[in-house]
Amino acid sequence: ADLSALITSGLRDVPDFPKEGVVFKDITPLLAEPASLRAVVEGIAGHYAQDSVDVVLGLEARGFILAAPVALELGAGFVPVRKAGKLPRETHRASYDLEYGSETVEMHADAVSSGSRVLIVDDVLATGGTGRAAVELVDKSGGTVVGFSVLVELGFLQGRSKLTDVEPHALAVI
Ligand code: 5GP
Repeated sequence: ADLSALITSGLRDVPDFPKEGVVFKDITPLLAEPASLRAVVEGIAGHYAQDSVDVVLGLEARGFILAAPVALELGAGFVPVRKAGKLPRETHRASYDLEYGSETVEMHADAVSSGSRVLIVDDVLATGGTGRAAVELVDKSGGTVVGFSVLVELGFLQGRSKLTDVEPHALAVI
């Protein structure tokens, strides 16, 4: 079956979550379906199979769910990018603006070695702030971003425009 259709049919729209006016795309039904889970992991990994990926970066929290099996599939390692204050050792930090306030994410400073080839994975590309911050973290570590992949891109938010240097790959675009 068509992967994009499989994904869009497996998503659930949740109005007014996490706040009024936002329609949240809930990916949990998709993850719960064995065939869909396998198809999305293979869909992401397959797109980068020829790119000699050393490390897959997973973005907290839903990016973790996909990044670890994608890393296994590619024979790569897994590195978490976390919200500020969660990682125990020295970190690189990157901040980005939200509608109200800002968000900071961190990665262990020694997690990605200089010259490593890095694939960034998350569930949803919305405004692009999270993806941009992840790219900055890889840059700080001296790694090379070989791609940024998501299950779903919310096209109307134009997050892609913040990530023209990495050309995000989305399994489905809404
Ligand atoms: P951005 O930084 O691109 O605006 O937002 C992307 C981040 O917010 C991702 O880490 C993603 O998990 C989360 N996110 C934003 N909107 C949604 C949504 O509708 N559904 C899900 N599952 N995550 C979202």
